Amino acid sequence: MADELNFKETQIYNEIINDEMMHSIMLISHDKDMLDFYAYKIVCTMFCSSENKPCGVCPNCQKIKHNNMVDVLTYPKDEDVLKSTELSELIDSVYELPFEHSKKVYIINNFSDIDILMQNKLLKTLEEPPNHAYFILKVTNDTAVLPTIKSRCQKILLPKMDKNALIDCLQQNNADIDIISMSVAFCDGSLALAKQYASSTTFAEDVDFVFDLLLNFKKSWQMVDYASVLYNKKDEILDIIHIYLKILQDTTYHVLGLNDLITLTKYIDKLDAIGKQFSLDAMIQMIKDTTLVIEKLERNCNYNTIVDEFLLGILEDKHKWPVT
Ligand SMILES: [Zn+2]
Repeated sequence: MADELNFKETQIYNEIINDEMMHSIMLISHDKDMLDFYAYKIVCTMFCSSENKPCGVCPNCQKIKHNNMVDVLTYPKDEDVLKSTELSELIDSVYELPFEHSKKVYIINNFSDIDILMQNKLLKTLEEPPNHAYFILKVTNDTAVLPTIKSRCQKILLPKMDKNALIDCLQQNNADIDIISMSVAFCDGSLALAKQYASSTTFAEDVDFVFDLLLNFKKSWQMVDYASVLYNKKDEILDIIHIYLKILQDTTYHVLGLNDLITLTKYIDKLDAIGKQFSLDAMIQMIKDTTLVIEKLERNCNYNTIVDEFLLGILEDKHKWPVT
């Protein structure tokens, strides 16, 4: 698939290996974990002392992993967004030679949250960097970055991560392999979501609940039972909605015969059963309805009312667009 991330096949990987990389790299993604992971891979490849870069286990890769590589500097140090004083400190230090290696790397988190005046202040440094200095700017919203900065950077729009890259990344946190593969199947390429699932103590239970809801919730008198479970899951409701969306999405793929797009392959029998109960139109409407549910949750509307409306909506859509 075109959106797969295989780091060693990327252009930037080859440029680092051949010592041709640009001094300023802009990584662009909405997924902050993905930005962290990609920056980590780039920096490890730059410093790795093994033949098979990035090995992840040599002393340099280990130091980078544990944030104690002296020539890799991450900004801002404490806050979420770089402050003006820190930026001045950064700019002054750029011309100082690296401590241990031939190059040093500045990683700037949340770069698109920095105001334009400060971006402009960094511009000159990006235009004429000393030979040893490299910059990795992490950007969640590239429309907020000055065009002059963009023109100085190699821009890398990060793809969704493929299954193996996600598993590779989650295994660094030593989670259980069954939970990891389940999290990866449900995360729709989002590393942030995969991490959240893998660390949730109720993830497996939430998946069972959503399958049960889609397979067995058929009559309005059952609403009390399903609602009472959801009333007690306020902290997990966004996970549950994402699980619900993912199941509906893969069920629509299954109904349309697009089975190679399905990642919930382990649950194909259940998807098949759901696809027999809901028409394609009903499922598409149900997917649309969740946008409204998420909006109401964000606006802090009465939680139990949102749950009631969500459940009623499922029955309504099912009856409005029956399976023919
Ligand atoms: Zn290494």
